[in-house]
Amino acid sequence: MKKTVSFSKNSTNLFFHILTRCNLTCRHCYINIEQHGSNTLPIRTIESWLRVFAEGTRAANVIFLGGEPTLHPELPAAIQKARHIGFNSITIDTNGYLFNDILSKVGPDDVDYFNFSLDGATKNLNDAIRGPGSYDRCVEGIRKAVSMGFATSLIYTVSNDNIHELPDMVPVIAGLGIERFFIQVIGIRGKSAGDRPEKLQVLRSDWIRIIPGVAQKVAELGITATYPKVFLNHDEPFECAGRVAQNYFIFPNGRVYRCPLCEDFPLHSLVMKKNRPVKTGGINESHLFELSIPEGCVINKIVQPENLSYDSDGIPKYKIACCMLKEEISGRR
Ligand code: SF4
Ligand code: SF4
Repeated sequence: MKKTVSFSKNSTNLFFHILTRCNLTCRHCYINIEQHGSNTLPIRTIESWLRVFAEGTRAANVIFLGGEPTLHPELPAAIQKARHIGFNSITIDTNGYLFNDILSKVGPDDVDYFNFSLDGATKNLNDAIRGPGSYDRCVEGIRKAVSMGFATSLIYTVSNDNIHELPDMVPVIAGLGIERFFIQVIGIRGKSAGDRPEKLQVLRSDWIRIIPGVAQKVAELGITATYPKVFLNHDEPFECAGRVAQNYFIFPNGRVYRCPLCEDFPLHSLVMKKNRPVKTGGINESHLFELSIPEGCVINKIVQPENLSYDSDGIPKYKIACCMLKEEISGRR
């Protein structure tokens, strides 16, 4: 059954970048060292920040990210701290290289999911986007994690460079043992912002023609498939997660964003000072969340307007949904 996953108002979600260093140099990497820093957070700081964001919330979830989070030698300790603090779910987003022998240092009960990333159904395409050898290492990492009893997901970030291979992912993932498949849409930030942004974004017609059908086929394999809604008809409600949800995108230089589309700019609404989030002054993302425009998402219109389209009277043909609004099809055999 397909359902739109609306924003949870009762949970807090931390997207915690504990370092920005990575062994890969993916073509669309969203990390921007100038904006996010190049430091590696010490475990004491990670613990303090986990505690402060978990305060006063009944259900907090954390996704540890990088860079490549398994390059952080204290990731196992960070996972244990998060468990001890009482996080509802703990997820690791990894490129599949699984450094520091991470799978032998944590158990399936410690981590809810390892999320892996492939951006092509073939080695040729994936490795052209993510780097030589990355396809094999990712598949090997998934197989190893599954064989050790970990729950795993796979993320495929769709752009015009790889949408043509998305249907071929169905047979690829059929034998991997993953539980969830996330289709993401390319964001024009980080490297993508400087790399042919007008050519990377997918047309609405291509999105509608390809994405829901692939998600449906994946669900028929028994794997839950999720994809961003991206395009809204005029009669569909628009909601900004920055206004109604508790999502925090935390970077090692202390910046905390509420909207990932802002991450290339010093528009963060919070900054960590003395291990507490403090509101930033001046104009920031939170002021932009309040604006209402016929195109839907304001920040989309500012940073990646190539996905918009207008009729001859200058009226937008559709709205752009919040990038965090998802459609989910539960896996059923
Ligand atoms: S694996 Fe992630 S952090 Fe590393 S280069 Fe690729 S997109 Fe960037
Ligand atoms: S993507 Fe747009 S709608 Fe979503 S939080 Fe950011 S500004 Fe708000």
